[in-house]
Amino acid sequence: MHTRRPIIIANWKLNGGIDLMCSSVVSFIRKHYEAEIVVCPPYIYIRDMLNFLQYSEIRIGSQNVSKFESGAYTGETSAQMLKEAGCKYCLIGHSERRSMFRENNASCRIKVQRALENNLTPVLCIGENQEEQENQITKDVLIRQLTEGLEGIDVQQQNICIAYEPIWAIGTGKAATPQMAQEIHQFIRHELISMFGEEAGQNIRLLYGGSVNKTNAKELLNQDDIDGLLVGGASLDPEHFVDICQQAT
Ligand code: PGA
Repeated sequence: MHTRRPIIIANWKLNGGIDLMCSSVVSFIRKHYEAEIVVCPPYIYIRDMLNFLQYSEIRIGSQNVSKFESGAYTGETSAQMLKEAGCKYCLIGHSERRSMFRENNASCRIKVQRALENNLTPVLCIGENQEEQENQITKDVLIRQLTEGLEGIDVQQQNICIAYEPIWAIGTGKAATPQMAQEIHQFIRHELISMFGEEAGQNIRLLYGGSVNKTNAKELLNQDDIDGLLVGGASLDPEHFVDICQQAT
């Protein structure tokens, strides 16, 4: 038996502002959720979101974290700072960071380590691109992202999440089918079990991301190995996002 509580994460990316923050807070706090709900706004809004949501159960995450601890690294934000600010989660290795900001498995591994050292739960994002999918090397790509991204990391039961986001599904309106997503999630779980043992592997939460909306959320969440969702575009409409959150039971 596993003890995986469903989790829904909003990834605002470089979107939103004071208006979205206020309308989201108003929509979020009126409802009760079975799932754990996490919002990842741009860094600059983290503190305000936390203040607004302090009496709710909604958690805040960051979209990235520095691999450095402190020093002359202009523009960076450390895991310790995020923890101090009140974050609980942090996205690591989102495909946009990998493709546009030259992040790779090795830098993701350091970031996972930094997050864990500071009691932040890392959400390591993995996924193949369209070409890799067409060449049927999805599983090879994922194995590499997992083994290199988590090499030497002391993974325990609930201190890490993995988000599977096929790049061809991100922002395209073309989500993976629930069956396709389940097959990959099951594969990822088997890999995690072989890397970290049965208990840890069974308890690590796996999220699906890529064109999730209120219409496909339920069926994705119904799959055995899908424990949560990482939502981009649809999280920018607070009512829509709340609708998705309420489908997780
Ligand atoms: P999307 O983005 O929901 O807009 O496809 C998901 C993500 O990039 O995390």
